[in-house]
Amino acid sequence: TEACLSAIEGAGVLNAFVHKTPEIALDQARAADARIKAGDAPAMCGIPLGIKDLFCTKGVASQAASNILEGFKPEYESTVTQNLWDAGAVMLGKLSMDEFAMGSSNETACYGPVVNPWKVDDVQRTPGGSSGGSAAAVAADLCLAATGTDTGGSIRQPAAFTGIVGIKPTYGRVSRWGVVAFASSLDQAGPMTKSVRDAAIMLGTMCSHDPKDSTSADIPVPDFEAALTGDIRGKKIGIPKEYRMDGMPAEIEKLWAEGTAMLKDAGAEIVDISLPHTKYALPAYYVVAPAEASSNLARYDGVRYGHRAKLGKGDGITEMYEKTRAEGFGPEVQRRVMIGTYVLSAGFYDAYYNRARKVRALIKRDFDQAFAAGIDAILTPATPSSAFGLGEMAEADPVEMYLNDVFTVTVNLAGLPGISVPVGLDSKGLPLGLQLIGRPWEEGDLLNHAYVLE
Ligand code: GLN
Repeated sequence: TEACLSAIEGAGVLNAFVHKTPEIALDQARAADARIKAGDAPAMCGIPLGIKDLFCTKGVASQAASNILEGFKPEYESTVTQNLWDAGAVMLGKLSMDEFAMGSSNETACYGPVVNPWKVDDVQRTPGGSSGGSAAAVAADLCLAATGTDTGGSIRQPAAFTGIVGIKPTYGRVSRWGVVAFASSLDQAGPMTKSVRDAAIMLGTMCSHDPKDSTSADIPVPDFEAALTGDIRGKKIGIPKEYRMDGMPAEIEKLWAEGTAMLKDAGAEIVDISLPHTKYALPAYYVVAPAEASSNLARYDGVRYGHRAKLGKGDGITEMYEKTRAEGFGPEVQRRVMIGTYVLSAGFYDAYYNRARKVRALIKRDFDQAFAAGIDAILTPATPSSAFGLGEMAEADPVEMYLNDVFTVTVNLAGLPGISVPVGLDSKGLPLGLQLIGRPWEEGDLLNHAYVLE
């Protein structure tokens, strides 16, 4: 813990830790020492962690990287972080992210961008997003692991951009209680770690059935670490042809082929599969996610939390809402709220929101059919490129940024577990990741496949 705290002090340029909690960390570390001495120490005991700013941590600023939550210190702890503290883990502080987890580059954070610690030339690159602070902090050894959340790829894409492991569990595996909601039917928290084994251990600690989240599944949490045998003989790996996009960089193609060969060498059978509705995933996601976001973000009204705008003479409650939300939300969040409100409006609900929900069901059915045909895991690239330069995408059309999620959003729409594993470097020397998608509730098996790729 002390080594991490001093590394954090020396790593200001990365801008990953935005609220530091050294006193809490040292208290928890001392308590962990005592537990270890007493012989009552689970695997996470004494492990120093960074926590994404989206998690409510009692008495500690939890801002979702938004000005609208400035000064907000929750009265309660999220279930996921409570599970980690109960196991003896240590909180070093809160990590930057895209505002309300909307973005793929960490550039929408009210704290300014996070810098990717991978430096191969003069370019400052993004660590990805929205869990960019988590990814940068783990990759730069500021913490041993971090929590992330993933609505459309926000654990897996930053993991790929920084050469670490990130798993989004099956929807319902991890409690959403106390995690600031973005798109409730898609959001899941998960670990971001240096290795597959760490991911297995930390995921096991984060999971629990939680009556406070009605979508939290009441099923046993297996020992994910015990699943890491490295034996995948006879497993069937699906390679979906629709993920071979036009204009895909040759380096990504090559990495994908290498990953396929690694799984084959380990005794798995490689099967070409089709997931025909893949091309509709991105448009469906960018209707469903903003729709849910516009509803979830209605609560930030200047009354209940954080920031309230200064009002002029004669301003009433309407002006208070309008000014507070105009000042408090950044441009990307405002764009999502407007898109979401539009697609849910009486005149357009059927054409957009309902249509997107139907497409979502078809995307899920594609996966169901592949698994019913005996596929155990699906291998795809995690991202369409390695980490891009800061400013490079943010200045372009916002749709350019959305295209980054092309390989990851399908997994959230279908509620499946997905993991990003670092598998190689591109010609510039930047990390690249592959994604494995698993059967629902089979995170152990998924992690074991990832273990072979690592
Ligand atoms: N990049 C996607 C978005 O902006 C996904 C974000 C996420 O998973 N939180 O919506």
